[in-house]
Amino acid sequence: MAVTHSLGFPRIGAGRELKQAVEAYWAGRAGLAELMETGRQLRERHWKIQSHSGIDLVPVGDFAWYDQMLNMTALLGAAPDRFGFQPDVLTLDQYFQLARGNAEQPAMEMTKWFDTNYHYIVPEFDRETRFGPGTEWLFDEVEEAKALRLNPKPVLIGPLTYLYLGKERQAGFGRLELLPRLLPAYAAILRRLHAAGVHWVQMDEPILGLDLPPDWIEAFAPAYAALAEAGPKLLLATYFASVAEHAVWLKSSAVAGVHIDAVRAPEQVADFVEEFPADKVLSLGLIDGRNVWRTDLRRALDLAESASAALGERLWLAPSCSLLHVPQDLELETSLNPEIKAWLAFAVQKLEELAVIDKGLRLGRQAVAAELAEQERLLLARAQSPLTHDPDVKRRLEGLSDADFRRYSPFGERCPLQRERLRLPPFPTTTIGSFPQTPAIRKARAAHRSGELNEAAYRDAMRAAIREAIGKQEALGLDLLVHGEAERNDMVEYFGEQLAGYAFTKHGWVQSYGSRCVKPPIIYGDVARAKPMTVEWIGYAQSLTKKPVKGMLTGPVTMLQWSFVRDDQPRATTALQIALAIRDEVADLEAAGVAAIQIDEPAFREGLPLKAADRADYLDWAVKAFRLASCGVADDTQIHTHMCYSEFGDILPAIAALDADVITVETCRSAMDLLEAFRVFGYPNDIGPGVYDIHSPRVPAGAEMRALLEKAAAAVDPERLWVNPDCGLKTRQWPEVEQALANMVEAARAMREAK
Ligand code: GLN
Ligand code: ZN
Repeated sequence: MAVTHSLGFPRIGAGRELKQAVEAYWAGRAGLAELMETGRQLRERHWKIQSHSGIDLVPVGDFAWYDQMLNMTALLGAAPDRFGFQPDVLTLDQYFQLARGNAEQPAMEMTKWFDTNYHYIVPEFDRETRFGPGTEWLFDEVEEAKALRLNPKPVLIGPLTYLYLGKERQAGFGRLELLPRLLPAYAAILRRLHAAGVHWVQMDEPILGLDLPPDWIEAFAPAYAALAEAGPKLLLATYFASVAEHAVWLKSSAVAGVHIDAVRAPEQVADFVEEFPADKVLSLGLIDGRNVWRTDLRRALDLAESASAALGERLWLAPSCSLLHVPQDLELETSLNPEIKAWLAFAVQKLEELAVIDKGLRLGRQAVAAELAEQERLLLARAQSPLTHDPDVKRRLEGLSDADFRRYSPFGERCPLQRERLRLPPFPTTTIGSFPQTPAIRKARAAHRSGELNEAAYRDAMRAAIREAIGKQEALGLDLLVHGEAERNDMVEYFGEQLAGYAFTKHGWVQSYGSRCVKPPIIYGDVARAKPMTVEWIGYAQSLTKKPVKGMLTGPVTMLQWSFVRDDQPRATTALQIALAIRDEVADLEAAGVAAIQIDEPAFREGLPLKAADRADYLDWAVKAFRLASCGVADDTQIHTHMCYSEFGDILPAIAALDADVITVETCRSAMDLLEAFRVFGYPNDIGPGVYDIHSPRVPAGAEMRALLEKAAAAVDPERLWVNPDCGLKTRQWPEVEQALANMVEAARAMREAK
């Protein structure tokens, strides 16, 4: 009957054991042997969890000390030459140096894995890049799994995805040119796996879900024809999007199986099932590996049964993608509202769901009648729960009109009114919001959480931090001040905790990069604001100074993007609900006399769908959500937004459509080059291009920032320019912040004098 498998399991450990072990090793608190032992135990535990839940083929190679792409680089012996390592002797320490940099070399770049919040280490290529031999880790892990009497299915990043997601470090050279050199290295790995008794190897090729250039698509069939001869059967795995457009050639290719994502793109199943070749398997991803909701098992079983009728033994069952992107085990959540908890499934529970589908397929629906009925009951309870539905929110959304998405007057008319009210000098200086989260702030928050510090004492501690921040900004001579965000642990969590419709887990960790994990909130119901969330803090800050203080909020798209989102209504609807809550907060800030309000949208760009065809729709609702949040104010109230990246590419029309009065962006690492795009586009409103990189402790001199400002003033109207750092300063230390901001103020003054 159908083989069940998983494409990957969370590697960090239910208690984040890998994080602790790796960090202890980095800090010299633990030795290599200890680290190795933790890794081995985690692998064993995770394999056993999977095999106990009925998984036939367990993934091997989904474990990584830092990242799976970096593991592939290590396995291929393809460490960049600039590190000067002997490729065939890459040690664990060298591996970590690739990820984190060393005294001579900056780390390899890191970027987001498709539309997830996971970051991978970007391979670096040049004409001289050579492959293989590399680390032994994968082969050792196969032996480990075999010793546990498991059936290992090694997981590799496929050669085309590996190349495509890398980056050229040389002009006039295309990384696809490396394929002929790369394939023999893959073949050698596959041959060794075959010799070790491996039957199946999973080759992840998620780039097939992107809009690929034709030469990349054409490279697939011959590449896999070559690899198929190496021995093991190859399961080409795709996920996150439909690959229906590739169905025809995939079916006639040399691979022994194809995995497709039937959660994100169920419509593609028909394209594959039809005339599916007799000598291949089709693996259906039926359980959502990207979200935390229980599966509609009846629907999944329907899909599996109809595929099974056509495919018989050739049907495999799996989650949609690696379970890396969801937390490990729901059972650890002992303080979650039980009603909400009953609607959720984390990695462990998802495999249990898969087992039910498998059993239903093998023994017939009768055999799983109880499971199906119970799941149906829970889904119905969720659909009907007052926790998910707030009629007031729905009514408000339905009652919106065009006017709610528009400022009263165009920017040209608002701008003079705002200047009149704020009375800022030319080249006004400001910061992005947060100031250093000092040990005192962190200690007070921890003590408050644990109940040691009562509400009043906690408020006093936060007020002290705000006083300190305001005092320092006044002394520095900044123009538009901020309160410093001392009271915020995290820019999404802070608001989510105060909004109806959001739940928080205690152990719901998901790996973000390396040893870093995040605990995304879960949006389960209609979002509503019960009472003001920030007015007291901002009001307090404003009471301390005659200079204007900016209100500081997180935007609807970012609130959505950095959470697990409900799957029972469109993302757009949820975004608009959040926008309404923020709109109310904006109105309350304005009523309290706040003249400038910033609504951060650092995740605006990362919400872009993988396929170009879906982007217009996303940009449409994302812009609407921001406008709904921000447009309720009078003309003389200034709306700021902030985005911490610099690749705006073709989304500039959408950025302009946000109609924020001021946008601050990260530009200094690109030396203001980005502004050229703003100039060509004719971006109309004010811009604050970051003049110094907050990711580094280096303090640039005033003259350096001045030079960047001169460059900026050549690209955009100097009248429109603001002066600010690249991003928030919460991860920095006060002494360097004060020095850098003093230099920044000096640079702004020099610009004013030169006018
Ligand atoms: N206002 C936030 C801060 O300064 C913005 C953070 C961000 O862009 N990610 O920390
Ligand atoms: Zn930022």
